[in-house]
Amino acid sequence: MDCVFCKIASGEIPSKKAYEDDKICAFYDLDPQAPVHILIIPKEHIASAREITPENSGIVAHIFEVAAKLAEENHLDNGFRIVNNCGEDGGQTVQHLHFHLLGGRSMKWPPG
Ligand code: 5GP
Ligand code: ZN
Repeated sequence: MDCVFCKIASGEIPSKKAYEDDKICAFYDLDPQAPVHILIIPKEHIASAREITPENSGIVAHIFEVAAKLAEENHLDNGFRIVNNCGEDGGQTVQHLHFHLLGGRSMKWPPG
């Protein structure tokens, strides 16, 4: 499958990894939007948040556990943001489920 994040998960495309286990991996975004900008993805190809089902939703809980650990490791003690963009209106550009962990600066709300 021609999916850039599947290729990053398999190592076919290189990335700077922040975390990896048998089910998920985390790597630094190529175009960081904050001092800390890490993407966390399931290794299994799930196209977007729209494809979350009772069968695969456990991976989301696991991703949030690892996000909390990565936030601690990166000293984001003053807070951070976890973002999922879904579909065209959501601004999703890579069609493989991913969560942005952003931190190291103050964030605005609402997002643009
Ligand atoms: P989206 O807009 O789909 O929520 O986010 C996709 C993110 O993936 C963007 O922040 C973009 O910079 C990042 N990205 C796209 N291709 C690559 C890549 O090959 N390597 C890395 N490390 N990040 C990528
Ligand atoms: Zn994929």
